Amino acid sequence: MENLHVDALVLGGGIAGMQAALDLADQGFQVALLEREPSIGGKMITLSKVFPTLDCCSCITTPKMSAVAHHPNIHLLTYCEMQSVAETGSGFRLAVVQKPRYVDVNKCTGCRKCEYECPVTLPSPFDRGLGAYRAIRVPFSTAVPQTAVLDIENCILCGKCEKVCAAGAVDFTQRAETFEIQATTLVVASGFELTPLNAKKEYGGETLQNVIDPLMMERFLAPTGPYGRVLRPGDGKEPTSIAYVQCAGSRDQTLGVEYCSRVCCMYAIKQAMLISGALPMADITIYYMDIRTFGKGYEQFYQNAQAMGVEFVRGKVAAIREDDEQNPVVKVELTEEGRIIERTFDLVVLSLGMVPTAGADGILSLPLGEDKFIAIPAPNANPCETARPGIFVTGTAMGPMDIVDSIITAGSVASAASAYIREHQKETAYA
Ligand SMILES: Cc1cc2nc3c(=O)[nH]c(=O)nc-3n(C[C@H](O)[C@H](O)[C@H](O)COP(=O)(O)OP(=O)(O)OC[C@H]3O[C@@H](n4cnc5c(N)ncnc54)[C@H](O)[C@@H]3O)c2cc1C
Ligand code: SF4
Ligand code: SF4
Repeated sequence: MENLHVDALVLGGGIAGMQAALDLADQGFQVALLEREPSIGGKMITLSKVFPTLDCCSCITTPKMSAVAHHPNIHLLTYCEMQSVAETGSGFRLAVVQKPRYVDVNKCTGCRKCEYECPVTLPSPFDRGLGAYRAIRVPFSTAVPQTAVLDIENCILCGKCEKVCAAGAVDFTQRAETFEIQATTLVVASGFELTPLNAKKEYGGETLQNVIDPLMMERFLAPTGPYGRVLRPGDGKEPTSIAYVQCAGSRDQTLGVEYCSRVCCMYAIKQAMLISGALPMADITIYYMDIRTFGKGYEQFYQNAQAMGVEFVRGKVAAIREDDEQNPVVKVELTEEGRIIERTFDLVVLSLGMVPTAGADGILSLPLGEDKFIAIPAPNANPCETARPGIFVTGTAMGPMDIVDSIITAGSVASAASAYIREHQKETAYA
């Protein structure tokens, strides 16, 4: 890898990072977009449809990924990890590691022949472990770049992929390479993770097979999903009753996640509507403390779900256990009626909250707020600013938000970063 000199380095290739990179590149700035996974797209490319319009997520995200890859001012760096950052008089110098794909990106055509030959099958992280992929594979059908990556930890070195690859792209001798990026400004777009599925032990996540996380449900519902239908991971049965447990990883002092994650009510309502379409006979119940539909058109969306027959029950779920047939049994306090009931479902989805992705903040020495997301320097500051001049933040690295707000903050971060670069260019010209 050659060293790079750019105006802006964007860290993270989810929707916020991609939009910020495009907005800066369209203004003529040289941008490096650094993503640690083998493909850009972030969480959004794994989703089924988006609330409140129910547009296909892949149809919106894929053109954006392609625009990033083909933009003449964007240097796309996937499967790379930032190792260290130093401040220089003229910006920042980053040491970056290119992790080995064991596939030459300049030769690989994405034909997937290696994948079809490979005998090793592994649970696919893209499908949240529900589907399978091979030890060598193109990460998913619309991955950018469309290049294979080989998982050396699980490879049995049978050599079948190397033999079948007409392009001669498989290269077992590849090693990690370190290179340097100099950038005037940094934009952190490192996104979010879900609160762990097993965070509340009493809900049985990771122990009970038919208690799943909401990104798994997104994969069941996505047209590109592993099965093309909704089923129980425990036995493959089509569920006829499904419960959602709201605030399963938010507004909870015991987890240290005291804030509202903002999107969980909306994604639960969305999924309930999509399931109603996919499984018209299924009963869907959403247990909630409060329903928060904060955005434009979101309240109407909620009302539409009620009209479709989704049952909304105000109640606090205390625990989930399993009966003899692996059916989750939900124990819930009906807060309006003041009584506790137990009800059996085929499948339970825990509406988990958003926590920040770990890593980038530590290397960049950015102070965090009480919620552990990157802190803004002062209450009245631009929320895209951080405590370190020249480093900006966008999307869910700032705090929980939906796609619309992620895109809006990407626009404002691009504007703040471009003003910073221009100011800096003026100073350098006069120096
Ligand atoms: C189940 C579920 C359903 C949802 N449905 C909807 C919906 O229908 N409509 C809607 O508006 N919103 C929805 N959302 C919210 C939506 O997913 C987020 O708003 C959006 O994906 C945030 O994008 P982002 O770019 O901030 O973060 P992410 O998508 O998390 O992207 C961050 C990227 O940064 C990369 N990264 C992280 N750390 C580093 C690092 N150190 N170095 C390099 N790269 C790094 C990650 O690999 C990732 O690619 C849903 C969320 C969930 C959980
Ligand atoms: S490594 Fe070779 S066989 Fe595999 S996708 Fe790339 S070109 Fe095709
Ligand atoms: S060498 Fe490894 S990656 Fe290639 S086909 Fe064999 S097991 Fe799969």
